[in-house]
Amino acid sequence: MAKRFLVLLALGAFAAVESPALAQSRWKAGAAKIDITPRESIWMAGYGMRTKPSEGVRQEIYAKALVLEDETGTRTVLVTSDLLGFPREVSDPIAAQVQQKYGIPRARLALNSSHTHSGPVIGRMLHPAYPLTPDQEPVIQRYTERLIGQVVEVIGSAIANLQPAQVAFGQGVAGFAVNRRRVTLRRNLPGPVDQDVPVLSVRGADGSLRAVAFGYACHNTVLADYEINGDYAGFAQEALEQAHPGAIALFVEDCGADANPLPRRSVDLARKYGQILAAAVDEVLRGKMRPQSGPVRAAFALVDVPFQKPPSRAEFESRLHGHDASVARHAKYMLSILDRDGKLPDRYPYPVQVWRFGGGLSWIILGGEVVVDYSLRFKKQYGWDDLWVAGYSNDVFAYIPSERVLEEGGYEGGGAMIPYGQPAPFAAGVEGIIAGKVDDLMRRTGGAH
Ligand SMILES: [Zn+2]
Repeated sequence: MAKRFLVLLALGAFAAVESPALAQSRWKAGAAKIDITPRESIWMAGYGMRTKPSEGVRQEIYAKALVLEDETGTRTVLVTSDLLGFPREVSDPIAAQVQQKYGIPRARLALNSSHTHSGPVIGRMLHPAYPLTPDQEPVIQRYTERLIGQVVEVIGSAIANLQPAQVAFGQGVAGFAVNRRRVTLRRNLPGPVDQDVPVLSVRGADGSLRAVAFGYACHNTVLADYEINGDYAGFAQEALEQAHPGAIALFVEDCGADANPLPRRSVDLARKYGQILAAAVDEVLRGKMRPQSGPVRAAFALVDVPFQKPPSRAEFESRLHGHDASVARHAKYMLSILDRDGKLPDRYPYPVQVWRFGGGLSWIILGGEVVVDYSLRFKKQYGWDDLWVAGYSNDVFAYIPSERVLEEGGYEGGGAMIPYGQPAPFAAGVEGIIAGKVDDLMRRTGGAH
């Protein structure tokens, strides 16, 4: 009797220990990647100073998909890419096809880009920034159309790869992101950075690594030449995939709008930063990560963010003949909108997305080039350990300044609205509007903290 009681106790203890693992095994996950390297010479994205299209390929670039299916059978899809960003004219048709083909709703699809400045121009993103030659327009259009099909395809491949999986989360740190406004604007400015490296691991039933998504909040701007490549994030993903054969490494750009990898401008440095980031990810993978369970609750919303009053038609007309070519291209674009619509947009529908996992991870996924203040603010508000704040997702159409950066001014505070083809800087209050919508979605997906 006593012996039998002991056995039951032992079984009970075993079951208690094993239950998180059993919950784990109810995940299915699939990952896939597709080569999106341009097949022809194409204008490269991110810098206005380039004067000619690409000349060769240093490293293949990819779009990658990670599909997580929770115990309710619901699928959530992360797409990452070695691109400057997905503008809405590219992400909208992708999302529509993903809904139609795979039944995955908008709230469960995140489209992130590494913000590499050594990838192709897509859509009309940052159009006023580039001295494009007329023959480049159809090249960009061809590339963009092919890309849309390829992203839809890679999600299908990831779904086809769905297998039982264990999902876990942890955070590391890497130190090469520097607040660039202290260099580009004023040395006496505060220099906040977010050097956290969030890591989501996906392992097979046998414990082998099948996919790893990892983030960093820093521009992919080590390189600025004419060879296509993924910059430091490309080298980090390459290093991780070499170290873990069969696994797919997905880089997520976080709130690094005011961060640069410094010093920079050599292939050697790009590779080094990639190795540092990969080492940070590997350290997390070797350590104790927190198991995640489902269901994944998801929400997506557009919130209107107002612009300041734009310059007058007369002001734009006077800018047409100025010395700065991108200011003149911007003015021409604004006048074309005025001719067509009679007015300029006074607000922008800003995309905010939230995913929340059982097991603790909350993932805030934001559009645009988001400055680091947002990441630090949300971590302070919702907790540092189990929060991942991604930027550069779903629609990259402008810099997203905090109230501090908006007041300080400079490129991230409003100057970048010219190359981005927006009418004016954001109006005061932008940070509160976005934080309010994040809070709303955090509540909707799991209650307030
Ligand atoms: Zn940028």
